[in-house]
Amino acid sequence: MDSWPIGVFASVDAGLGVAWDVISELSVPTIQLHAPHEDKRNQSAAERFQKQLDEMGVRCTAVFGGFAGESYADIPTVVRTVGLVPEATRQDRLKEMFEISDFANWLGCDTVALHLGFIPHDPGSPPYPAIVDVTRQLCDHCSKHGQFLHLETGQETAEGLLEFIKQVDRPNLKINFDPANMILYGTGEPIEALRQVGQHVRSVHCKDGTWSDKPGETWGAEVPLGQGDVGMERYLRTLQEIGYTGPLTIEREIPQDPKRQKAEIGQAIELLTRLRGEILG
Ligand code: MG
Repeated sequence: MDSWPIGVFASVDAGLGVAWDVISELSVPTIQLHAPHEDKRNQSAAERFQKQLDEMGVRCTAVFGGFAGESYADIPTVVRTVGLVPEATRQDRLKEMFEISDFANWLGCDTVALHLGFIPHDPGSPPYPAIVDVTRQLCDHCSKHGQFLHLETGQETAEGLLEFIKQVDRPNLKINFDPANMILYGTGEPIEALRQVGQHVRSVHCKDGTWSDKPGETWGAEVPLGQGDVGMERYLRTLQEIGYTGPLTIEREIPQDPKRQKAEIGQAIELLTRLRGEILG
């Protein structure tokens, strides 16, 4: 397979990413799929999606889990609602992630990913061991299907993420690196972070953003690819430097405006295609 096949974040029904019927219009060879709602997470639906992807000539490179009740309204709300970190919903969501892993397996996909939530920075803090444990359980379930589990970056610093991976200690735990999230959450300079965690990066998002004037307290802004503070050329050159050859998956989260989303993703595909040509030759 060629290095850096371009991809988009797509969705059947969950609202994030481009709609299913837009995938073929964009003519990309790969997608990451936002896990569909429960009623479509069965074997026959997975086989139907797989057949449609085959017809479009598209490969699903990861299935992303997400949960009812999650909100990205602001940083404190993310802390309270996102991922497997909030204790009240942890067991139900773990069960749901097992189902998403099974669904990905029916789809022939070897990668499951998610926003785990805000992992405490201090391994000595009280909830830390339980978060390590739930992550191990999920890794072990994925492992039965020969799958990797990718953690979306952004809510931790590079050091925090490296420490967490060390604590979980499972060979199938990897990283989905999102440079814009590092900026949006104010968790660190993304290129530096990418070099630090590079050996664990097995998938990436191509997304751009601008720093908040109060990093870590309020959001920065997500902007069209190439117009933010990531520096796309430097980002791709750093991916080359760490030896990353996997898909470049474009993520642009403006589902409320599908027309603008499609236009901006079209421009992002052009930008990445040009840079990829210049860098890989
Ligand atoms: Mg992302």
